[in-house]
Amino acid sequence: MVARKPAVVDHIKTKDKVFFITIDDGWYRQKALADWVVKRKIPVTVFLTNQARTTMSVDHSRCFTKVASFGTVQNHTMTHKSLAWMNTNRKREICSAQSVYGKSFGYRPWMLRPPFGDGYFNLHSRARLIESVAASCGIEYIVLMHFEGDTQANMARLVRRYAAVGLKPARLENYLPKR
Ligand SMILES: [Zn+2]
Repeated sequence: MVARKPAVVDHIKTKDKVFFITIDDGWYRQKALADWVVKRKIPVTVFLTNQARTTMSVDHSRCFTKVASFGTVQNHTMTHKSLAWMNTNRKREICSAQSVYGKSFGYRPWMLRPPFGDGYFNLHSRARLIESVAASCGIEYIVLMHFEGDTQANMARLVRRYAAVGLKPARLENYLPKR
């Protein structure tokens, strides 16, 4: 069976007054952020790089599970190498993370964010290579939206600023286009 090509998402169409918080990588972990998102019930999509999950051989999965309490942990590759480079092992970068996260978080990711947006923001010709590997191990969406916000203070500022114009944080999963 040929796996279905992932949908490439770079915007969400909605009339709802919502915004989406997605955080990439995972090199910096802040307890205050984890505590705060749980207390405020903020949905966050964590696009995690596996190398950051296990910095210095310490497994930080619990911290990411907590930050994603009202969202999900998704795939941001094993080592954050560009997926568009010819010599990158795409199968390892994408599909090994699928298995590792399946074990660490109890579900396999269905979204992939390619590091640097490579293959999409540039080197477009490589997009199909990335998509076919991603499809082979269960990725349904390639998500290119980008949001900064790696500390609790930044995030609080963000939520306040959007609240002031009537926007609420929402779960990205609930707004992805139907496939
Ligand atoms: Zn990244």
